[in-house]
Amino acid sequence: MERKITEKVIIGGVIVGGGEKVKIQSMCTTRTSDIESTISQIYRLAAAGCEIVRVSVLDEADAAALRKIKDAIDIPLVADIHFSSRLAVSAIENGADKIRVNPGNIGGEKQIKIVADCIKSHKIPVRVGANTGSIEKEFAEKYGRSERALVESALKSAAVFEKYGVNDIVVSVKASDVPLTIRAYRLLSESCAYPLHVGVTEAGTESMAVIKSSAALGALLTDGIGDTVRVSITADPVNEVYAARRILRAVGLDKNFVNVISCPTCGRCAWNSMELAEKVQNYTERFEKPVKIAVMGCVVNGPGEAKDCDLGIAGAEDYCVIFRRGEIFAKVPSANAEEEFFKELKRILNAE
Ligand code: SF4
Repeated sequence: MERKITEKVIIGGVIVGGGEKVKIQSMCTTRTSDIESTISQIYRLAAAGCEIVRVSVLDEADAAALRKIKDAIDIPLVADIHFSSRLAVSAIENGADKIRVNPGNIGGEKQIKIVADCIKSHKIPVRVGANTGSIEKEFAEKYGRSERALVESALKSAAVFEKYGVNDIVVSVKASDVPLTIRAYRLLSESCAYPLHVGVTEAGTESMAVIKSSAALGALLTDGIGDTVRVSITADPVNEVYAARRILRAVGLDKNFVNVISCPTCGRCAWNSMELAEKVQNYTERFEKPVKIAVMGCVVNGPGEAKDCDLGIAGAEDYCVIFRRGEIFAKVPSANAEEEFFKELKRILNAE
């Protein structure tokens, strides 16, 4: 897949943009000044695969907490600030690796210049952007709540910082509407070379949020658009990270995983392949290896349809066959099938 090559920025040692691997982000749901809870949530996020984490900074206590949090974690820390240039400066001085601000709401030119100078002297990037809720009035009036209004708003924010010499800028244009999100990022991508943070905002609770994000990110990432992603879910943020990983895997941007394929089953299936597929999926989730495994419902079609798999199983009424690359090498009674298949699976994954 051809990626759009954007400018490169470095967030706490992690490169975003420039055709580098798409980075997974999430955001803490804890109060940042509750240092212990925030650190423990970041540990869980990082263990799940989060590569950049954002926290909200509402007051001086939150800003001051950043230093201790940063000392305790190994992934870049982004501070999200609204309405206060003073807090933006304080967050940067306390070690934020990037800040997310809206120059339109942190005061006048004087305040923006103070923040811009602080960003430059600490050599960190800034993320600016527009959501459907934060489109600048002039663009909302001119273009309505459209992709053009989102993009013009976001680019105006970027230009405000560029005017004061800030060049390391990440941009986002999020909407909760999937087609609007896709149109906005496509237009933004054509209009600038900034690295893009991509996501659907206010996507809802888990099942629908994951579908909305998959639809939007799927379209954009396969177009080569997007340098960092966030799957926004009203739930434990660890679930956002798992969803983001799965989306990157589904679109082929992360090949280092165990790809479990399984058929939906039909009237030809005479054994419980659904249960085994679930067990294999759960077991293999933690392995980072480019291996393809098949759990197929019937011996008639299974081995042939899963010819490209490193290992597979297909069942009949009282036996299963185990195969490699479509070649059957074992026929086992149903009672032992799971045990025998897992033996082979562990061998392939070097997990014995
Ligand atoms: S592999 Fe067999 S059981 Fe599965 S869907 Fe195809 S025909 Fe049906």
